[in-house]
Amino acid sequence: MSYKFIYIFIFASFIATLVINYYFSDQLLWMLLLIPSVAIIFLSPTWKTTIVVGILGIILIMVAELFFYQSKILYEDVVSLIMTGILECIIFIVISFFQIKTAKLIIELGNFALTDPLTGIYNRRYLELYMEKMIPLSQEQKQVMTLIMFDIDHFKKINDTYGHHAGDAVLKKIVRVIKGAIRDSDVFVRIGGEEFIILLPNCSLEHGIKFAERIRTTVENTKFIYKGIRIFVTISIGVTEYIEGQDLKKFLEKADQALYKAKATGRNKVVGLNNPIAFQN
Ligand code: GH3
Ligand code: MG
Ligand code: MG
Repeated sequence: MSYKFIYIFIFASFIATLVINYYFSDQLLWMLLLIPSVAIIFLSPTWKTTIVVGILGIILIMVAELFFYQSKILYEDVVSLIMTGILECIIFIVISFFQIKTAKLIIELGNFALTDPLTGIYNRRYLELYMEKMIPLSQEQKQVMTLIMFDIDHFKKINDTYGHHAGDAVLKKIVRVIKGAIRDSDVFVRIGGEEFIILLPNCSLEHGIKFAERIRTTVENTKFIYKGIRIFVTISIGVTEYIEGQDLKKFLEKADQALYKAKATGRNKVVGLNNPIAFQN
């Protein structure tokens, strides 16, 4: 459903409510005001909007009834108006409550599908969706974009020596430490077990390599303590810059090759790769 349609619906139902109430004196007809109000909450499902819409609705009903439509106000009319107002408020709050809950649930489900449960950062699915938007944008605006792919060295040995829980704790701490070093615009993703990606928009390969080197030394110098035992952790990093025309698969493949080279040539190091000829289709 398009938003334009909802705006028209809100406007039309609001005007219809005013017109109907103008021609018919039954105050229960003010219940019709619930229709545009609920539609507004659909667009903005928050308690703030609920309160603002609720108060504006009450003011509108009072002003319309007491000052414009009625030439003479009877006691019964006032009582009936108040009862209608209270009833309307209760219905509105109940509907808003469920709308707000549903909206929150949808957001949570969305986050659940796009984040990694262990570390709380984004997962591969998010990277795919992000790159679907980013690749055409960076091509259009001729922006550079650099990708850092890193993998924990000998992680299997950490698991084997200290246990799976220690491995999990290392993963969580690495994420925490690196999160503190990246910018808000950088996209941090766990793409596999102990393999991660940091996507740096507006960043050249040269800067990306410098940044990767900083991350590598930060991890190397971080004290990982599990149950009183220090675990020494290092990472190997592959860095590559986006080349026009590449899809995500090719972009990742190139980073993977750089990472492989870092592993093969000694680990705990950064390798930058930017050879368009060698990696063209
Ligand atoms: P290399 O330096 O070549 O990367 O060696 P490695 O041992 O790090 O790589 P390998 O691929 O042999 O092993 C990765 C291990 O990571 C194996 C797997 O059990 C472990 N792993 C994957 N996901 C998790 C996880 O969520 N928690 C823990 N604790 N271990 C994990
Ligand atoms: Mg590894
Ligand atoms: Mg690995």
